[in-house]
Amino acid sequence: MNNNQVLDRWTKEKSEELYNIKNWSSKYFAVNKKGEVTVNPYKRDDTASVSLLDIISGLQERGIDMPVLLRFENILDSQITFINNAFNNAMKKLEYKGKYRGVYPIKVNQQQQVVEEVAKFGQRYHHGLEVGSKAELIAALSAMKDKEAALVCNGYKDTEFINLGLYATKLGFKCFFVIEMQNELDIILEHAKRLKVEPHIGVRIKLSSTAGGHWSESSGDRSIFGLNTAQLIEIVDKLKSQNMLHCLKLLHYHLGSQVPNIRDIRSAVLEAARVYAELKNEGAAMGYLDLGGGLAVDYDGSQTNYSSSRNYTVDEYCADVVEAVMHVLDKVGIEHPTIMTESGRALVAYYSVLVFNVLDVAEFEKFETLQVPPEDANETIKSLYETSLNISPKNIQECYNDALYYRDQIREMFNHGRISLRERAMSEKIFWNIINDIAKTKKKVRFAPEELENLESAIADIYYCNFSLFQSIPDSWAIDQLFPIMPLQRLNECPATNAVLADITCDCDGKIDQFIDLHDIKKTLPVHKIADGEDYYLGVFLVGAYQETLGDLHNLFGDTNVVSIKIDENGGYDLVSEIQGDTVADVLSYVEFDIKQMRRNFRQTSEQAVKEGKILLSEQRTIMDAFDVGLAGYTYYEKDEKNA
Ligand SMILES: *Cc1c(COP(=O)(O)O)cnc(C)c1O
Repeated sequence: MNNNQVLDRWTKEKSEELYNIKNWSSKYFAVNKKGEVTVNPYKRDDTASVSLLDIISGLQERGIDMPVLLRFENILDSQITFINNAFNNAMKKLEYKGKYRGVYPIKVNQQQQVVEEVAKFGQRYHHGLEVGSKAELIAALSAMKDKEAALVCNGYKDTEFINLGLYATKLGFKCFFVIEMQNELDIILEHAKRLKVEPHIGVRIKLSSTAGGHWSESSGDRSIFGLNTAQLIEIVDKLKSQNMLHCLKLLHYHLGSQVPNIRDIRSAVLEAARVYAELKNEGAAMGYLDLGGGLAVDYDGSQTNYSSSRNYTVDEYCADVVEAVMHVLDKVGIEHPTIMTESGRALVAYYSVLVFNVLDVAEFEKFETLQVPPEDANETIKSLYETSLNISPKNIQECYNDALYYRDQIREMFNHGRISLRERAMSEKIFWNIINDIAKTKKKVRFAPEELENLESAIADIYYCNFSLFQSIPDSWAIDQLFPIMPLQRLNECPATNAVLADITCDCDGKIDQFIDLHDIKKTLPVHKIADGEDYYLGVFLVGAYQETLGDLHNLFGDTNVVSIKIDENGGYDLVSEIQGDTVADVLSYVEFDIKQMRRNFRQTSEQAVKEGKILLSEQRTIMDAFDVGLAGYTYYEKDEKNA
């Protein structure tokens, strides 16, 4: 940032640009005149937007502590509409003769509330569910009412799974058994005959097309799921021989999740449509082409084929898919099938926002004026000081090397007892001053040395935040996925500093030091300096997909509080439901502690202390109370007022 920009008045528009919110928020989130982030599920301007800070203060009045996962149910509703409309519009425009039917893959967010909301909001479009296990099938059956919507069963299916699916078929559900393994077919045919029901059968194939992105392994010849062409032919022959080919109705593949490049999507559709045509020619009934998931979310808003993004819009995705199917099938005169997709990420990512407060800040100290080392100081310390005086755009690399060299020497000398702790402290101040200067000077250099690339994060402030990365955004840790993160307030003020975020797990991996950027990855996040006693909130957006159930109990930080919110069209809102996060007792019991036994043990310890005269009997009671309060408490950092 140059001086002119600092002098210009900062505006909310500048914040919008800085955090790129317009490009990743799909219009669901924006910044209002007060400089606060707002949510607007209707994607219209102003009237129906609600400030997240207002929601937070409402939660706090109700005694709901940070961190909180906010779920906006209308966003889910809007996304279902959005995707269905996009397909329907594309089909209309291209004069596609078939229909679109989406199914939501439960694994993407299995929370009861999410599954039920998809089933409810999806009814208008007959949007169904996809399951990959018995447990998910049971969840789906308990939530689904719409018999026109599809229920797609993927995954390994044992007899129990298959029986349940066949009963669902009897009840009138459009339940597809997608064959991934050859032996599943035998079980299905055997039990279908016994139960006198005609199963809807699908086949999952491996494509030779592959996709880039994080999850590229789930497609292609090496994929562990799906049938190769030889196996596919065997299935067809078996069905033929048993006079059951009319039950083969669906062709499915799944290219992998978050496919950033439209070219990969298109070539997969073309290949699958060819297989579809051949199955039809073999005499199978068909009628359904299920393209799996893969529709990506533009997490960084860059609209590129970078793994956190996608180089296509949802409209383009739909048009390309429909066009590719028509391209293949029209040539051979095959009727247009019902196109199905299993988009999970694109459906639910926008719907949740993780909100937390900043607990503490470790500022990078900038020692403006350094003490000159005394005459009799160690020579190496003097040399280090000399280095600090000579930094210029021409020699930053050299100064950096020198500084590192002297610092290491000084540490070595300290270890051998040749310099004192005070001397070491003085030299460390000098060292960090140099690093800070180099970072500043680096900005004036057109091509900074590669080695100095990460300097910004080394001199960033550390903002300690009230959340667990492992619990709430596990993909940030596991696969370096980027999520948009930004302050929720003061956005009409220039953020005066840059920070990396540390969580409260005390794990050195429990930090966020990669942030979205239009062209690259930012190492630090621009944030405001926090005044004493000020509540400063950050939001991690687009966390509705995959993050909730992958989370783990690192350091026994449990599930966060979850609040489901419905925004009405006039800009009011209702708390539809609140799910309390785990208590300390909850998480301890997850790892098989026996809470009653723990209390007994601790009581004994305190009884003993009474006996030994270390505490009074009245104190013992207070101590036991504190133990119980601890057990019942939230696993995250709780504000003092609450217990006062
Ligand atoms: C995970 C999965 C999906 C969901 O993929 P998204 O990219 O999240 O839409 C769909 N189908 C199958 C078979 C899956 O395993």
